Amino acid sequence: MSEYPPLELLVAGERLGCEGRETIDVLDPATGEAFAALPKATPADLDSALEAAARGFKAWRVTSADQREAILRKGAALIRERAQAIGAAITREQGKPVKDGVGEVLYCAMLLEFYAAESRRNYGKTLVRPEGQRVEVRHEPVGPVAGFSAWNFPAINVMRKIGGALAAGCSVIVKPSEETPAGGLEIVRCLLDAGVPGDVCQVVFGVPDEVSRHLLASPVIRKITFTGSTAVGKHLARLAADDLKRATLELGGHGPVLVFKDADIERTLDVMVTAKYRNAGQVCVSPTRFLVEADVFDRFSEGFAQRARAIRVGNGFDAQTQMGPMASQRGPDGLQAKIADAREKGAKLLAGGNRIGNQGFFHEPTVLAEVPLDAAIMNEEPFGPVALINPMPGEAAMVEEANRLPYGLAAYAWTGDQARRMRLANGIEAGMIAFNAASVSAIDAPFGGVKWSGYGLEDGAEGVQACMVTKTVHESF
Ligand code: NAD
Repeated sequence: MSEYPPLELLVAGERLGCEGRETIDVLDPATGEAFAALPKATPADLDSALEAAARGFKAWRVTSADQREAILRKGAALIRERAQAIGAAITREQGKPVKDGVGEVLYCAMLLEFYAAESRRNYGKTLVRPEGQRVEVRHEPVGPVAGFSAWNFPAINVMRKIGGALAAGCSVIVKPSEETPAGGLEIVRCLLDAGVPGDVCQVVFGVPDEVSRHLLASPVIRKITFTGSTAVGKHLARLAADDLKRATLELGGHGPVLVFKDADIERTLDVMVTAKYRNAGQVCVSPTRFLVEADVFDRFSEGFAQRARAIRVGNGFDAQTQMGPMASQRGPDGLQAKIADAREKGAKLLAGGNRIGNQGFFHEPTVLAEVPLDAAIMNEEPFGPVALINPMPGEAAMVEEANRLPYGLAAYAWTGDQARRMRLANGIEAGMIAFNAASVSAIDAPFGGVKWSGYGLEDGAEGVQACMVTKTVHESF
């Protein structure tokens, strides 16, 4: 196991440690024990960060595309170089298998490389006008950004907050999750070591609501970006509205998966079972409600349960482990309550259903079938290793059920019928849809949701545009 990195605040280029500050314990999800202490920013630290962000914005917004691209590329190279150590830190604090932690870090490098190139493509346009007039539409960085990210992807969530902002020419203050601080801190350290000025990219920690209220109360911050629950997203949107700050909100989902009898059922099972239990189901785009045509329901649900039972659950540092513990005590506690409620209401338990052991936050890969719509788990994001599989009479009912909830992040459908795929692409309310595949995320593809899954986009060119404002310049001569 490589060494866990030092936990600090990174404010105005200074490394601020625990001395003289209150601290928060970081727990190992495989044991439940505290293994590191994280300093909490004081109000004075947050004010210093705000002053630095204002200074940093003035300097960074006028850097040339060449300069910005070169620095971001160097940051990406350092992330690649340090991927093993950062991946191990993520496993320590978050629990996922170490190869997944390393994969997450390498994805950050790819995304940053994409953003580095994108920083050159900040094209404006000139409108058609008669001689003597000129109208130019230009895109400018929105201003200092405050980013708040969740614990399920300690590195990617942070990269999504800072990459687009830096490419656009903004300064950024990011607050990674206090439960998983090192992944994001290490990503920022790579950027600072690559030459991003200390005033331009900063990291703070504290009590989340206190930090976000403090930063959002300042007129310095012009945009917020958050990954987490819908409840907190709505709260932050209200705070942002007081000062009309722009917002990108990447919130939860309740991914429907429509499975038709004309699909390759074995392949659907192989791909979707892996996708379901990735990161112990703690993924905003996790496939959750499997809506299966009645003719293939028995085969599908039995095949799912069999594969779920075969998943090797263990410490993320064990090379055999396919699924690690959940990230915090809230995980198994919340899931147990939802499973009990669903079973009371008549759901059938086909696999798992229990916590594992009495150390750490492990939970069995679980399959529930024929789950009534009034069970809480059919309405609230379970955010854990549980699949819900229900038989459905046909396409119309499946689309209606897919759209029943107020969420609209990722949706999936498995069918060999292309005309049906087009109907579903039109009819399903989601920010992202995958047909005959499990991946809805790519560095150059916009990532985000509709309805209660939030607004604004990350990744792709849209992830940079989200950090820009448009100015129109009218000129006569
Ligand atoms: P949460 O929304 O309370 O916390 C998510 C993250 O937001 C945490 O890292 C937390 O530090 C931060 N946060 C919380 N309150 C904040 C505030 N006032 N200001 C700024 N940051 C704040 O969610 P949770 O309790 O960790 O998990 C509950 C549910 O949230 C999950 O079951 C899931 O539905 C959802 N969730 C979604 C994502 C996602 O990727 N969209 C990630 C994590 C959690």
